[in-house]
Amino acid sequence: MVNHFQYRDGVLCAEEVRLDELARAVGTPFYCYSTATLERHFKVFAGALPPGSLIAYAVKANDNLAVLKTLAKLGAGADVVSGGELAKALAAGIPAGKIVFSGVGKTKAEMRAALDAGIHQFNVESEPELAALNEVALAMGKRAAISLRINPDVDAKTHAKINTGKAETKFGIPFVHAREAYAHAATLAGIEIVGVDVHIGSQITDLDPFEAAFTRIGELIASLRADGHAISRLDCGGGLGVPYFHHNSPPPDPTAYGAMVTRVTKDFGCRLSFEPGRLIAANAGILVSEVIYVKRGDAKTFLIIDAGMNDLIRPAMYDAWHEIVAVQEPAPGSPRPLYDVVGPVCETSDLFAAARPLPDLKSGDLVAILSAGAYGAVMAGDYNARPRVPEVLVSGGQWGIVRPRESHADLIAKDRIPDWLSG
Ligand SMILES: *Cc1c(COP(=O)(O)O)cnc(C)c1O
Repeated sequence: MVNHFQYRDGVLCAEEVRLDELARAVGTPFYCYSTATLERHFKVFAGALPPGSLIAYAVKANDNLAVLKTLAKLGAGADVVSGGELAKALAAGIPAGKIVFSGVGKTKAEMRAALDAGIHQFNVESEPELAALNEVALAMGKRAAISLRINPDVDAKTHAKINTGKAETKFGIPFVHAREAYAHAATLAGIEIVGVDVHIGSQITDLDPFEAAFTRIGELIASLRADGHAISRLDCGGGLGVPYFHHNSPPPDPTAYGAMVTRVTKDFGCRLSFEPGRLIAANAGILVSEVIYVKRGDAKTFLIIDAGMNDLIRPAMYDAWHEIVAVQEPAPGSPRPLYDVVGPVCETSDLFAAARPLPDLKSGDLVAILSAGAYGAVMAGDYNARPRVPEVLVSGGQWGIVRPRESHADLIAKDRIPDWLSG
């Protein structure tokens, strides 16, 4: 979808904020998010879906409170996968009644917190989880509203590490066992069956696997009703892919996705919910970094930047492709030599891009790694004792630091020295 990172007067801007000036103010590297882009993505998606649908933003894509608050103001709910995400969603003002709890390993403490808050529903992924939830709910004198996450056994044709809809992944209850799982759930006094949930993976760029999954689930809903269950909700999951190539039109367009969902589910008689993460956040964020050195080897030229794989792990973990641009707009027709863009971390996989054509760059120049708003800062760590980088949210001409940079003192303060080593 459209984003609001564009060149103005020869400098890359986030909305109306110049990134060179922002870099001077906050230092590098830093994540920068655009409010207008988040809002646009949410509204385009919401506008494509059947009216009344719940959009439970997948908090794991970007859980910054300011991002959550921006989405909460638009009416977003949240899809959470941990007690921590539940706490953050509530703290950001997302109503409990719009929160869905997903994930294969919910603990009883997390279930208690969610029941206490009064969330919309649990997406239950296994029989043992169902038993635990029943026990927790009964002990609290409550009934937990649930959908079972059904694994439709379709191939989402995405990267293996984010493909979750095949029979051999750890996610969901196998399609062939769905009816017996619902029959069992119906016997549990602490459980209230409300619907069915399906999520087949992430960064899916083809509508066919979604359509195949929703069609199979539609058949299941009919048989579950025939079995006597009250199925009033269908959670369609997330997973819609985004273009990682700048200026590309998205594959598939959210409008096409919405039209397909509307067509396939029109006779299901269910209120729909969706759990988009990447679609909302990915192209609403960038990682700005400074060139430390240009190292000319015999075979290659390395652009060594001050961001590393600890700040943005997607290229190392998923072989993800991110567009990289110079913050200073290159003159039209200027040469584009090839660089291997690498970070300072002592790992060969600390590589953002191989043989990438970029303008002539030198030490001190700024680059922006695009489409870094989802699965970026949330997956960052402090490997190589590299402090976590700050996150900045822009809105029009305003900007605010929404997560400060960690200092070396912060890093040191995280550890403790046991008695026998102190003194
Ligand atoms: C990760 C995840 C999502 C979000 O996936 P995106 O690809 O970011 O849209 C939604 N639902 C569940 C259950 C997930 O695990």
